[in-house]
Amino acid sequence: MEQRTVYLDNNATTPIAPEVVQSMVDAAQHYGNASSMHTFGRIASGAIEASRLSIAELIEADPKEIIFTSGASESNNTVFAIARELINQHPERNRILTTAIEHPSITETVKWLLKHHYIVETIPVDHYGQVKMDVFEQMLGDDVVLVSVMSGNNETGTIQPIDAISSLAKAYGILVHTDATQSVGKIPVLAHSWNVDYLSISAHKFYGPKGIGALYVKTGAPFYPFIHGGHQENGRRAGTYDTQAIVGMGTAAKLALEHRQADHDRLWALREKLRKGIETSIPEVEVNGHPIDCLPGTLNISFPRAEGESILLLLDMEGIAVSTGSACATGSLEPSYVLLAAGLDVELAHGSIRFSFGRYSKDEDVDYVLEKLPPIIERLRGMSTR
Ligand code: PMP
Repeated sequence: MEQRTVYLDNNATTPIAPEVVQSMVDAAQHYGNASSMHTFGRIASGAIEASRLSIAELIEADPKEIIFTSGASESNNTVFAIARELINQHPERNRILTTAIEHPSITETVKWLLKHHYIVETIPVDHYGQVKMDVFEQMLGDDVVLVSVMSGNNETGTIQPIDAISSLAKAYGILVHTDATQSVGKIPVLAHSWNVDYLSISAHKFYGPKGIGALYVKTGAPFYPFIHGGHQENGRRAGTYDTQAIVGMGTAAKLALEHRQADHDRLWALREKLRKGIETSIPEVEVNGHPIDCLPGTLNISFPRAEGESILLLLDMEGIAVSTGSACATGSLEPSYVLLAAGLDVELAHGSIRFSFGRYSKDEDVDYVLEKLPPIIERLRGMSTR
């Protein structure tokens, strides 16, 4: 088979959809400041409101519950800043509950909060990376201000039962946040049915542009701005609107709703074909994450006695882009904290690779990986001293 280019890193970011590009090119004409009262401003703000509506429809929300942000990192930080403010005002509700498998925009915020003497407790996850509901229930109380649990994990694809988590928390009047960045466009993300107060999303994970996202804030939920300044977004998020990016996100949201079921089924079929192919052609592999409650395009596999980074680089030489969950810490590679939290031993975590499919992935991409990967693993295992 001749060399191909195979992009299997859609959880890191998705390619921008051609329809999104076209809408952004068209929107470039709407250069007026959307906050201006004249016609130029009103045309831009009309385009922004249309986009807000598409996003609201995608996540089952009301348009006035959508706040545009620079992405999910900002959305997540905003929610934790709200919790911090609430704790400062009502110190009798001072506990925050979250998991150890959240995105760094949450885990690093948590580290900052702990350093500043706030109380943040970790809800444990099981071997699949799913919240241990019995332990979670025990941790709840009238002194908890916020529960933040991601909807779908970026590394393993494991999906959490957000509606069940929310209904347990609501019995204590606790605010609930979910980072749904990886779930949007892959599974139904239902802000109202899940009964969450806050929900974070990011356009570049569903074929939209980078640097634009949104925070859903349920009507009536407490809110304190994270970015102070102008009165955009009803004083909730300052900064001149990026009309082009917002329009692009709106187009992406429309497409995501239109394609959701078809994308879901196709991505799951590709994932399963790759999983079965790897399991039959490579001995001793372990699939990480939940076997069924899993984002359709995500496949995380450990290859004992082969190092993730070496696999990644050798696949890259064949034109295949994948990722590992490792983080580079002061020159040494730390294994994925998500897999460690799910109880994997360090060696298995070190040898893990995430394949993530997207709307433009093809059946032949899987065939190509299944041709190139087995000899790479065999070669690396041959060199392994373990
Ligand atoms: N949360 C999750 C689960 C993510 O996967 C990401 C992106 N990797 C983010 C948050 C951050 O999103 P953004 O790039 O829009 O800041």
